[in-house]
Amino acid sequence: MVLITDVKFYLSKGDFWMDLLQLKDKNVIVMGVANERSIAWGIAKRLLEVGANVIFTYRKERSKGKIEKILENYTDYNSAVIECDVNSDESIAQAFSQIGEQYGVIHGIVHSVAFAHAEDLKNRFVETTREGYAFAQDTSAYSLVAVAKAARPYMTEGGSIVTMSYLGGQRVLDGYNVMGVAKAALEAAMRYLAADLGAEGIRVNAISAGAIRTLAAKGVPSFNTILHKIEETSPLKRNTNQEEVADMTLVMLSALSRGVTGETIFVDSGYNILG
Ligand code: NAD
Repeated sequence: MVLITDVKFYLSKGDFWMDLLQLKDKNVIVMGVANERSIAWGIAKRLLEVGANVIFTYRKERSKGKIEKILENYTDYNSAVIECDVNSDESIAQAFSQIGEQYGVIHGIVHSVAFAHAEDLKNRFVETTREGYAFAQDTSAYSLVAVAKAARPYMTEGGSIVTMSYLGGQRVLDGYNVMGVAKAALEAAMRYLAADLGAEGIRVNAISAGAIRTLAAKGVPSFNTILHKIEETSPLKRNTNQEEVADMTLVMLSALSRGVTGETIFVDSGYNILG
């Protein structure tokens, strides 16, 4: 039997957690939803659930269609879908001026975008071309700087920027190659941005997610082997998932992490601590 006092208790507890997060009615941009498996979708879902206004950005028309289809089940929530190709300064400028006009203030950004040519992941690292190297850096690392620059004029109340990294940025992992170098640059860029923007109340952090089966992960040749190895050897003896990464990202976007900036936080079943 549920007593009325119990209901009141749980309701007030819910309000307590919502107050701690301080994400209700906040405007958060989520970049990188390609489909429901995307890490960015897990994060967006949680943001919608806690009452944030979510602005989705996409590169390809196909992704736009996928996002709009997913959002058919979320008609009671506040969201928008806007084009933004992070390889193009013009596209970034257009997207952020549209978002600024529509929303006024940006409180949070999820940068969950990366890309490298398939051959640069398949070939030996020494074979990486100048063009392939530059492309991976531009899409997967510089894009964070470009996005922070474009968002800054609208982040007038401070805020939080969270990017997605991977262990291959800190260690040599088979088959990660040019993307590992891009993730190393991404994490360094994150720290420089954190130092630069901290005085404006803007925090910048990275989540280093464990291996999760997504569209981007399909490009990593050794992906299945990595999943098995993590399951066998990680401290938690299992792989991490979209929800676990989403929950930690929510913390990093929220007031709960207000004292944290310039950090890479691992959500990977503890795999990174192993030698
Ligand atoms: P995903 O394929 O679902 O997401 C990657 C997104 O990047 C896609 O939505 C794609 O459209 C977008 N993108 C690529 N180039 C773009 C461009 N020029 N402009 C705008 N968007 C562009 O895969 P995911 O695994 O969810 O990847 C999201 C992030 O998480 C990436 O940074 C990835 O490196 C990182 N990550 C993934 C894993 C994993 O195992 N899946 C682990 C750690 C980190």
